[in-house]
Amino acid sequence: MSAQLIDGKAAALRLREQIAADVRDFADQFGYAPGLAVVLVGSDPASEVYVRNKVIATEEAGMHSFEFRLPVDVTEGELLNCIDRLNSDPTVHGILVQLPLPKGIDVSRVIERISPTKDVDGFTITNTGRLAAGLESLEPCTPAGVMMLIKGVRPELVGLSALVVGASNIVGKPMARLLLKERCTVTIAHSKTIDLRERCREADILVVATGVPEMISGGWIKPGATVIDVGISRISCEDGRTRLVGDVDFVGASKSAGAITPVPGGVGPMTIACLLANTLTAAKRQVQLPAAE
Ligand code: NDP
Repeated sequence: MSAQLIDGKAAALRLREQIAADVRDFADQFGYAPGLAVVLVGSDPASEVYVRNKVIATEEAGMHSFEFRLPVDVTEGELLNCIDRLNSDPTVHGILVQLPLPKGIDVSRVIERISPTKDVDGFTITNTGRLAAGLESLEPCTPAGVMMLIKGVRPELVGLSALVVGASNIVGKPMARLLLKERCTVTIAHSKTIDLRERCREADILVVATGVPEMISGGWIKPGATVIDVGISRISCEDGRTRLVGDVDFVGASKSAGAITPVPGGVGPMTIACLLANTLTAAKRQVQLPAAE
């Protein structure tokens, strides 16, 4: 392997320590700590794990964690009422509704009900639009974390060619907007893109978020490129076990990339750290303190 390994666990730990220190300063100044409310509907096992990890991380950072567990048959109206109460609760600075929601609930309507100032996932149309317009916003956590990892190994991004493979509203599109904000020349690829291999070979920065296991071959990587693998899939091995893999052939790509994230241990840990960062930023903006860059 010649590529530098981008250690997302270590970067996330550093960020979380910095956030915890900032939370202590905030609490000293205002007499209370920022609060994050997580709303979980139903008992999807994966969502349960995500919520538990978020609650632990929030408390470790010294913030208040509020958990709202609603039954799987909750009505949309009851869920919206819950969000209304959190919007007007001054002890809650960030609100996160764990996705996916059960069938029959309109996800867009639920997300849109969250006050944009408390939208720590950065999913509301207001925050999406503000990011697209290059204005101050709460940025979606995964792309924000990816940006930090990229800057950690490549501080100067102006003019570089960036390719984002995957065009979802929560990862691909905001990722492209953040790279554009850094003055990269950005291309977004998706499942209908022609000649993906050629486009990959031109990319100085390659971010892949498709959920298709190891779809990017090592030979597609431009020598020296920074490769960020957002995807995470569990695949079966020949010995009957399973393992987690990303969207990139890690071993092959490591031969030509300049730097690359592993899966797991790359992007994942940064997502939760950025959720905490957004909660602190939201709390600071709500008391009109400048948020850290
Ligand atoms: P979505 O399914 O919402 O979007 C996938 C995107 O990939 C779509 O734009 C789709 O194209 C594109 N795509 C699918 N197949 C191909 C292909 N063969 N070639 C090119 N593009 C393709 O996924 P998400 O954005 O929500 O997540 C992507 C991955 O990232 C998943 O593995 C997910 O688990 C992971 N993830 C990890 C996070 C973390 O914290 N580590 C956080 C969020 C996601 P089209 O638009 O044409 O359908």
